[in-house]
Amino acid sequence: MRKAIQDLAESQIREVANAGIGRDDVLPFWFGESDEVTPAFIRDAAIASLQRGETFYSHNLGLPELRESIAGYMSELHGPVAADRIAVTSGGVNALMLAVQCLVDPGDEVVAVTPVWPNLTAQPIVLGARLRCVPLRPGEGRWTLDLDALLAAITPTTRLLIVNAPNNPTGWTLSAEEQAALLAHCRRTGTWILADEVYERLYYAPSPRACAPSFLDQAQPQDRLVVVHSFSKSFLMTGWRLGWLVMPATLTQAMGKLIEFNTSCASVFTQRAALAALAGRSEVTPRVVAHLRQCRDTLVPLLAAMPRVRVSAAQGGMYAFFRLEGVDDSLAVAKRLVREAGLGLAPGSAFAPQAQGWLRWCFASRDLQRLVQGAERLDRWLR
Ligand code: PLP
Repeated sequence: MRKAIQDLAESQIREVANAGIGRDDVLPFWFGESDEVTPAFIRDAAIASLQRGETFYSHNLGLPELRESIAGYMSELHGPVAADRIAVTSGGVNALMLAVQCLVDPGDEVVAVTPVWPNLTAQPIVLGARLRCVPLRPGEGRWTLDLDALLAAITPTTRLLIVNAPNNPTGWTLSAEEQAALLAHCRRTGTWILADEVYERLYYAPSPRACAPSFLDQAQPQDRLVVVHSFSKSFLMTGWRLGWLVMPATLTQAMGKLIEFNTSCASVFTQRAALAALAGRSEVTPRVVAHLRQCRDTLVPLLAAMPRVRVSAAQGGMYAFFRLEGVDDSLAVAKRLVREAGLGLAPGSAFAPQAQGWLRWCFASRDLQRLVQGAERLDRWLR
């Protein structure tokens, strides 16, 4: 086995979940997914596809009509995006891996903004890249970017910048001005940007287009920019494993080759479900976002009123990320919370060393009362 694989750390989130999965007395908020089932009209489209006998391979890059539909969706949000810049992938995490495989050679330098979902930092390491992390600054309950520090870290030897905003776990988002500065700087250094924007629609600040600022808003089609998206979060489709990439058209053919050697294609019936999801987007996503806003606004004030908790409302995403004063081992505390309070949270240290003492709570709960119940358990345990 390659040493890089041997050295990969176990997921701390899994470690906590393994202690409590299957226990009826534990309220689980550790993973990043809603507990709401995919809408029936999306499931029906997959069933209809199977019943028509669509059980075969598709084009590596996805069904042409789905690529067109995704391009239309992206264009609606960000201005013209042509279908020849789109590849359908087997989930957002697959899209991320494909992008890193396509752009990074062993030994290349990759800069990543952290804390971040551990898959984003593990993938370059799996491929033998040298990873350099630029930490966000922890405040009382909110994390902020030191833009100058990030710009200084990106030099002509930096092959790839990985940035996830809205961010899992912190809820931090990049501003349009920061994106402009990064685009201009990366054009000068020749660095590729890999923007993970899977949470772009889960955005709670006022915005004319109901989504977070995106690199696509300002980039030229030929810029060294690859954007990762997913059906998982804004269409309630985590288990379907479907995502997409937006890239310069000059990369698309190579991406198709790479997909051939990874998964060959996403399954056709899930792509049919995705077509239905996009056709019904005005029905699904605004409702999901409005509900998540309610979840956030239910949970965060409850957390803020607890002793030793420092929290602020996330600007985007589906997580409350909070500091527990006096805690210096997030993993140990998360395990104790499972055992002693029946509450399943993810440890901050899973996302970056500097997030020791922080905990992540996925607030995507259909039933707001479950959040209240969970908060009562935490409050009781803290007191
Ligand atoms: N990117 C981020 C930041 C995530 O949090 C996730 C999932 O939690 C993904 C990408 C991938 O999502 P999926 O593979 O379900 O599309």
